[in-house]
Amino acid sequence: MNNSTYKDALKNEVFTYITKAATQLKLETYVIGGFVRDFLLQRNNKKDIDIVAVASGIELAKKVASLLPTKPKVQIFKTYGTAMLRYNDTEIEFVGARKESYSENSRNPNVESGSLKDDQNRRDFTINAMAFSLNEGNFGELLDPFNGISDLQNKSIRTPLNPDITYSDDPLRMLRAIRFASQLQFKIEIESLQSITKNAKRLEIITKERIVTELNKILLSPKPSIGLQLLFKTKLLHQILPELVALQGVEYEQGQGHKDNFYHTLEVVDNISENTDNLWLRWSALLHDIGKAPTKRFEKGNGWTFHGHEFVGSKMVYKIFKRLKMPLNEKMKYVQKIVLLSSRPIVIAQEVNDSAVRRLIFDAGEDLEDLLIHCEADITTKNKEKKKRYLNNFKLVREKVKEVEARDKIRNFQPPISGELIMKTFNLKPCREIGTIKEAIKNAILDGKIKNEYNACYDFMLKKGESLGLTTTNNSH
Ligand code: ATP
Ligand code: MG
Repeated sequence: MNNSTYKDALKNEVFTYITKAATQLKLETYVIGGFVRDFLLQRNNKKDIDIVAVASGIELAKKVASLLPTKPKVQIFKTYGTAMLRYNDTEIEFVGARKESYSENSRNPNVESGSLKDDQNRRDFTINAMAFSLNEGNFGELLDPFNGISDLQNKSIRTPLNPDITYSDDPLRMLRAIRFASQLQFKIEIESLQSITKNAKRLEIITKERIVTELNKILLSPKPSIGLQLLFKTKLLHQILPELVALQGVEYEQGQGHKDNFYHTLEVVDNISENTDNLWLRWSALLHDIGKAPTKRFEKGNGWTFHGHEFVGSKMVYKIFKRLKMPLNEKMKYVQKIVLLSSRPIVIAQEVNDSAVRRLIFDAGEDLEDLLIHCEADITTKNKEKKKRYLNNFKLVREKVKEVEARDKIRNFQPPISGELIMKTFNLKPCREIGTIKEAIKNAILDGKIKNEYNACYDFMLKKGESLGLTTTNNSH
């Protein structure tokens, strides 16, 4: 047991109120879990605090709320025996110390009240089981029965009890172990890692929503490949995203191999994470090559090809989001779009020309900058010269984009000629020719044949109509 005191950690005035409430109710009270861990790691101050009270957390929460100057509302979750209140921008959760026992088919345990030690035993990792006392007699004392503090120093993730029991009781902890390893850049202790691999199949009792929450946290960590590699190694990834696993490996045909698209993907995700915190752009990087497994062919004379993998990949995005019960909303469409367009700027960077850039601006619209960030992250060649050249080409593309945009105003553009005007000009009822003319005007603008302005487009419309054998009703405009 460690007897150091950490009164400094408890400077937030909210702790004074909790202590006061606990003293009045004569409840033993502690702050536990993430708050303690992150304080000891000097990670930026946490916005959620977990309080454990021996006997009733709900009772304590009510008392604290009545003492706080803001008199916050207490949200009570009866089924879980927990209560939550907000003070300033901090969320404080109260729980009664408990003992848990699990059954085979559920991660929801039977619960009975217990001591602080019982409560620490049910925690997932030694680094998450540490508590600071909020009791008057030993305020600020660290209670660390499993030597979590040395695991913090050794950057190690370890379970308080036998890992087989910990992971099998609640398989979500397997993902949490990997998520913390990725967020904190810690190692999972070997016994734990073996146990996760052994229990990987138990993941099936976890809801998709919870899996995705952890996956998102892995993706948002500083170096997501740490978590993704661990998911792969333990075979959890095989259950969550088999499409990614299918990218792993190199095949040879007539002495020719292709790159390992799984490891390439991990590199791209790490690269992009240095330049963006946008979760959905990180998802796009993760999925940008998934179409490569189903489209892989070896063509004599051509070598390995992945024709149409961007299109196939963007369709797979929908299936994956649906299976993982992720929202099928504009975020998904954004990921599909980045995947679909992921090779376009690369082709353009090889030969930068105006009309290709105009089309890119038109198709990517407001997501063009994100698409370029993706493409830069996609450069994983180890050849320094090549890398420099590619990056430089993207600089040229960006300059060209600016130039074309300023001149041609392509982004979100609507051609200045409407379907109605076409109908009126040629005295038409709704018919196919209208679409043909509209499309021709759009293409002429994108190809730089005409300017994106009314007069030029009107003249072009007349010529196009004529070539389709249409006659005008009147010529004034
Ligand atoms: P974060 O910074 O992500 O909030 P955290 O450690 O606070 O990290 P929470 O999910 O908020 O994580 O959980 C709070 C605490 O509850 C944890 O520190 C841990 O002690 C305990 N805990 C959470 N989930 C589990 C679980 N599945 N099994 C055992 N203990 C858990
Ligand atoms: Mg937390």
